[in-house]
Amino acid sequence: MPNIVVVGTQWGDEGKGKIVDLLTEQARVVVRYQGGNNAGHTLVVGGEKFIFHLIPSGILHPGTMCCLGNGVVLDPAVFLGEIDRLQSRGVKVGPENLRVSERTQVIMPYHQRLDLARERAKGAGKIGTTGRGIGPCYEDKVARRGIRVADLVDPQLLKAKLTEVLPEKNFLLEKLLGDKPFTFEEIFAPYEKFGQRLKPLMANVSIILHEAAKHGKNILFEGAQGTHLDIDHGTYPFVTSSNPVAGGAATGCGIGPKALHRVLGIVKAYTTRVGGGPFPTECLDSIGDHMVEVGQEFGSTTGRRRRCGWLDLVVLQESARLNGLTGLAITKLDVLSTLDPVRICVAYEVDGQRRDSMPPTLAELERCRPVFEDLPGWQEDISGVRRVQDLPANTRTYLKRLEELAGVPIQVVSVGPDREETIVVQNPFA
Ligand code: GDP
Repeated sequence: MPNIVVVGTQWGDEGKGKIVDLLTEQARVVVRYQGGNNAGHTLVVGGEKFIFHLIPSGILHPGTMCCLGNGVVLDPAVFLGEIDRLQSRGVKVGPENLRVSERTQVIMPYHQRLDLARERAKGAGKIGTTGRGIGPCYEDKVARRGIRVADLVDPQLLKAKLTEVLPEKNFLLEKLLGDKPFTFEEIFAPYEKFGQRLKPLMANVSIILHEAAKHGKNILFEGAQGTHLDIDHGTYPFVTSSNPVAGGAATGCGIGPKALHRVLGIVKAYTTRVGGGPFPTECLDSIGDHMVEVGQEFGSTTGRRRRCGWLDLVVLQESARLNGLTGLAITKLDVLSTLDPVRICVAYEVDGQRRDSMPPTLAELERCRPVFEDLPGWQEDISGVRRVQDLPANTRTYLKRLEELAGVPIQVVSVGPDREETIVVQNPFA
């Protein structure tokens, strides 16, 4: 079976959790390749609610190997807490089904404190970070002063690295940001313990993936956030600190690009954004309220209300190109029921000119006005539909137009939060 990369095509929160869970049933290995515990998936399995921030939800399927690649940033307290919670509910978690790359960067307490203090200092110009230390951890990775899992599990190495970096962090915290410094012991003591607990799970994830591929086991690469939050290709600087685009899967877990056979793009039938940044199709009216309320658009990690607007095909076409999408999964289509017309943004207009691609600067994107194509809506409740041909005619027209404009076939349509509330047009693994 082919390997699949699953990516968000918008600004994250596209409903990847549910689609990944569906695909996980058919995958032997699931690996995350970037991001940290700023992602959040809520899954309801057999009436029980499970929240995942770091561990792939594949952990619920016996026989599935779950990995965190080197491109991830790991908060050990959150990770170990997630393991404890799963174990207390009877889920088996151990080296036989969970591995962390020895090269994964570790989020340290000073990363979190710096994150929060900087965001506070920025006031109105804030990025809207989740304050979990993810950005500062990636900064240290690139600055070559990060602490990796392989360092954390070795007390001598941890001591040496921490001794080297702590004075600088404390200087920044105290002198620049007016915050509290850390003592060496208050970090070293708990983090040394975390390291010892992590040791049995540490592995060379690149080798695990190569071995799996050699034995014909298929791999699901799970991206977090979305394409337009990509550090290189997103709406900079309102972006995340890593590469959610499909190519990030190769660098983020140590596998060659030829192993990324297919790329499934998750598309919410409308658009949402958390935090700041320009948003051309945003609806600041009762339609936006409808999307928030019916779509329950509140962050699963932060609880923040999301900004909502119509589907933006400029955004989607860009995602198709940047990721090399081979299929689409449309989510939350049910949320559009009763809205009439349903609108699709097919281009932007900026300074009297039509524009079909995303501009490179925020100032230009700020000036972009959406060019809408209006399609007739549908009144029916579609959550019970399981075959495309049973959808109302207007819903089918909408999907057909979306597929045409994106230039990528629709493989899955989600019509409700439940696993059952799904239309599989074509199995992405087939
Ligand atoms: P993710 O991080 O990309 O998984 O996205 P979110 O954190 O926004 O999760 C999506 C939310 O929408 C979850 O609460 C899901 O249960 C819910 N959801 C997923 N698919 C659908 C759908 O097709 N319809 C509706 N109404 N809700 C959905």
